[in-house]
Order: sequence, then C-alpha cells, then structure tokens
Amino acid sequence: MTTEPLSIPAGTPDPGLYIVATPIGNLGDMTLRGIAVLRGAALIACEDTRVTGKLLKHFGIKARLQRLDDHAPPEVRARVIDLARGEAVALVSDAGTPLISDPGYRLVREARAAGVTVTTIPGACAAVSALAIAGLPSDRFLFAGFLPVKDKARRETLEGLAGIAATLVFYETAPRIERSLRTIAEMWPEREVAVARELTKLHEECRGGTAASLADHYAAHPPKGEIVLLIGPPAVAEAPVVDPDVLLRAMLLEAGPGKAAGIVAKATGLDRAALYTRALELKGQ
Ligand code: SAM
Repeated sequence: MTTEPLSIPAGTPDPGLYIVATPIGNLGDMTLRGIAVLRGAALIACEDTRVTGKLLKHFGIKARLQRLDDHAPPEVRARVIDLARGEAVALVSDAGTPLISDPGYRLVREARAAGVTVTTIPGACAAVSALAIAGLPSDRFLFAGFLPVKDKARRETLEGLAGIAATLVFYETAPRIERSLRTIAEMWPEREVAVARELTKLHEECRGGTAASLADHYAAHPPKGEIVLLIGPPAVAEAPVVDPDVLLRAMLLEAGPGKAAGIVAKATGLDRAALYTRALELKGQ
C-alpha cells in the first residue's frame, strides 16, 4: 500500500466534481479529505440543504449549497457540471456514500461524458460497514438496495437472487424488518442472516441467526433506527436455480470437461469433482 501524508489538504481543490462521503451517524467518521474538499468547493450539491447545512455547521464550513437529486431537471445538472469545469464542485448525500441508494448516478454519468474529472472522496457506507462486522462471507457480496415494500414484490426480488453464491446485502427499515425476516424464513430457513442496526451510533448492534430467530427477536423487541439486512450465501445443495446440466452442456460446446466443470463450479458454488464426473457423462451421451 502506498500512503499519502496525513493532513487536511489546504487551499482550493482542483476543478472537477468530487463525490464526498459523509458520516452515517458518527460525525467522527468525516474524513480529512472530505472536510478539505467541502471547505474549498465553490458549490456543494446535496439532497437536502438543511441536513447538509447541519453537517457543515459542525465542521465550521461555509459553502454555497444547491439542492440536487436524481429528479432534478437536466438543466440543473448541466449547470453544476459546467461549473465543475472551472471550479471544485462537491456532491454529498444526506449520509454515507453518494450514489449508494442515494442520488448522484446521473450527475456522475453526465459529468464523465462531458469530460469533467470526477474524484472520489471515500468514507462511510452502511452496506460495507455492516458487511465488515456481520461475520458472513465477505469475499463475494451483492448489494441490492432496498427490498420492495409489498410482500409479493419482495418475495419475487428474493427469488431472483436465490441462486447467487454471495452474501446478499439490503437496506431495510425498522418497521419492515420483521416482515422481511419472516419471508426469508419461509424461503430459506437454514440460511445465516444478520441484522446490523444503528451503525457507528450509540446503540450500534449486529445480531446474527436464522431469519426465524431474528424475526422472533424483533417481534419481542421492536427495533428502532436504521438497518442493514444481510443474508449469507446458499448452502451448496440449495444453490442451483439453473439446472447445472444446462450450464455444463453450454460450456462443453466451448471447452473440455475439466474447464467446463471449473467454470460452472465457480458460478454455482457446486462441487467441482461432481461436476467434472457429470461433464464426462454428458460428453459421452
Ligand atoms: N448512501 C448511504 C450509504 O452509503 O450507506 C445509504 C443511504 S440509504 C437512503 C439509507 C439506508 O442506509 C437506511 O435506510 C439504512 O438501511 C442504511 N443505513 C444508513 N445509515 C445506517 C446506519 N447508521 N446503520 C444501519 N443502516 C444504515
């Protein structure tokens, strides 16, 4: 790892668009680079000027604010991008990393297309913070934003993610967590689940177990605050939603049994040796 000297950079940042992460609860998580960029920016685009105004006040930063979310008219984004050609412009959301279930995607895309330099100022993100403490496999994870509110849509979304050999990470709300956990309990009673709540705040907690045990817990102790819901990957036997024979047959058109078995094993989490045996059988048919 190469490191840069630890300091709050002084002076005006170079022109461009800066995507600045802000704390998700604990103001101590504001980064030094974040403070420097917000201090030197000609304009700070934000979701809610009151929320960002409070953050800036805490750090003694005076700045011009512009409300901007993904529903803002294109001309507002165009003006912000135009300004970023000659001056530093920052984008923040109410909390955490912009664009992660927060506005900014259109602005970044359009700024890049316009040739404006886009720089990341990383920091807090609830999804990554939860994954870091949940004790679930973190080598592969899939962040899927908020689960739909309606039961049917929620179930369909989960079904669509059923075969993914990765920890699933969702944002959830306190009033909905029990229902989501009940749905997961019906679909995947064996899977390990974790609920990370109020991260970086006074009442931070992360609780693991089956979905049913967690649903019972939260029924008895209705939770408050902000929540990240994590679902561990399927056990090998639960994994295939796509028939592995279909995958193997497709792979065998392009590769030998060894390579085909290796690729399908990686994609599904199924046992490579068993897939290899099956690939040989299929090749012989
Ligand atoms: N951009 C943010 C980020 O980087 O985490 C997320 C914004 S999203 C609109 C807000 C959701 O993130 C909350 O409903 C909750 O699910 C999750 N969240 C935010 N702060 C949290 C915290 N301190 N603890 C647990 N979850 C949090």
